[in-house]
Amino acid sequence: MQEDTNGCLACKSLSGEKRISPGKIIYKGKFWVIEHAYPTELLGWLIIEPKRHIETLDELTSKEWQEFNFLLQPTIQILRVLTGCEKEYVLCLSEGKGFKHIHFHVIAVPVGLPVEKRGVNVFKCLKIQPEEAILPETVMVFCQDANQKLKSILFAKWQRQKRANKLVEFCGKIIEKARAILGIGAGTPSQELVADDDADTHFNLGIAYKEMGLLQDAINSFETAMKNGYSLTDCLDMIGLSFIDLGEYDKAEKVFREGLARKNLQEHEKLGLSFDLGLALEKHDRLEEALQFYREVEKMDPNFRDISQIVKEIEAKLK
Ligand SMILES: [Zn+2]
Repeated sequence: MQEDTNGCLACKSLSGEKRISPGKIIYKGKFWVIEHAYPTELLGWLIIEPKRHIETLDELTSKEWQEFNFLLQPTIQILRVLTGCEKEYVLCLSEGKGFKHIHFHVIAVPVGLPVEKRGVNVFKCLKIQPEEAILPETVMVFCQDANQKLKSILFAKWQRQKRANKLVEFCGKIIEKARAILGIGAGTPSQELVADDDADTHFNLGIAYKEMGLLQDAINSFETAMKNGYSLTDCLDMIGLSFIDLGEYDKAEKVFREGLARKNLQEHEKLGLSFDLGLALEKHDRLEEALQFYREVEKMDPNFRDISQIVKEIEAKLK
């Protein structure tokens, strides 16, 4: 049931009219927003809520569910990393006065939370006097960290999903064309599986070959995709990673350096290529050089994958 949103405190906070959380918005996606609840005595009490005012889960569209599903696991992951919590609660009630707007509580349950505040009684940690709440500054720092961490996890996840989607799409095309060749289904008969200038398909074919361990075929496909206009950075990155899988670290290094030498690289491209170059050098036992690139990645984005951990490990090895 959708009512008028005038009295909705969530909508007011989302529009900026009257913010609830002292921290910045941790995530703003197409359909959802992640915020830190306030006032609360628990650090890591997050709220995932839809940007539009709805009051029943039934109203969520499949696209909205899809983004929610994409978000939930990384959200839990960052709570673990940032709070070292004992367990996590996920609750959706949305019944409070002014808070009928659907919202999921994702709560980091700290080690040693007294039994009388566990389970649904955790809401006692929200119904508190202002002086019992964690400090606004603490929430601000937490939101900043959570935003960085989540961004980096989601970017990696999004990249993986993009590759997986491409693979699925490609396999569908292959099946369709194979059917056509064999004359067992709809579609236009074709002399060849992939047209020479179909850059997208060559790139996807490269991914498929790489997944199957057919690395030289993968490299050939990425090269063909590159010649036909597919993103140079993506192709060079995949060629380099295939060389790493082949154990040909010199070649991988050369390819990543070629990628990094390109003008107008976007930040995420520079990050990815620098990280992969570090990897090629590390595999080649050139730890000092590897460390140099890993440190650069850490400087650009300290939350990129588990870069800080990697830097620490290499530093320890070099001691
Ligand atoms: Zn609302």
